Amino acid sequence: MRVAALYDIHGNLPALEAVLEDIRGADVDQIVVGGDVVPGPIPRETLRRLLDLDLPTHFIHGNGELAILAQMAGTRTGSVTYWGTTSGARPPESIVEIYRWTTAQLQPELEPMLARWPKTVRLDIDGLGQVLFCHSTPRNETEVFTRLTAEHRLMPLFEPLQVAVVVCGHTNMQFDRMIGRTRVVNAGSLGMPFGEPGAYWPIFSFAIHRTTSSKPPSAFALAVIRKLKILQPITSCNRHQRNKCSRRLVRRN
Ligand SMILES: [Zn+2]
Repeated sequence: MRVAALYDIHGNLPALEAVLEDIRGADVDQIVVGGDVVPGPIPRETLRRLLDLDLPTHFIHGNGELAILAQMAGTRTGSVTYWGTTSGARPPESIVEIYRWTTAQLQPELEPMLARWPKTVRLDIDGLGQVLFCHSTPRNETEVFTRLTAEHRLMPLFEPLQVAVVVCGHTNMQFDRMIGRTRVVNAGSLGMPFGEPGAYWPIFSFAIHRTTSSKPPSAFALAVIRKLKILQPITSCNRHQRNKCSRRLVRRN
């Protein structure tokens, strides 16, 4: 079985289309969508495209979906109590505006579907064994760790899972490292990557292939993002924070 992991798409439909074209030629059997499909510049059409895929597709939520679900609930209750952060603190107005706009795009028809997405998915993949897919860490959608975070700080999160591989995302930076006996792969971001422009996505099979779209980056992501001026690195370290958080496990408060 070959499983493609599509993480942190962030409403970037052109990047998704480019990757789906590559997937058609990559003999993929199943897809895992790893959260943070939204928010982003083309949220409704991106979600609809994923829901219409003709391959078995598993969805998990990211902090982006939790924030939008909270915003949706707020349209009924009059107050928003959770914004995709661990504390529920209100983000800056520019971010709240993105949440409101995204909610208006998706509510009401897509809300029940988003609310059903689980926190994690486990698949048994020939040659790898049990693979657990989560958004950031298995316990939390917003905490940040990277390939440089000290192993001893991460061991308590990963060792008790008793799985061969954990796939994560959220920081939009691909890596592949060992934490104790667990191989931990960050899928990278399909729609809002750090580093070189491109749509990053791995395939999990007997081996793990880390891939970027064969389409030139100019064909998608950056043009869309810059034109709409709506997509910001709201779910992870931004470029200024990256050095600061690269070696630490950070609980977002
Ligand atoms: Zn995220």
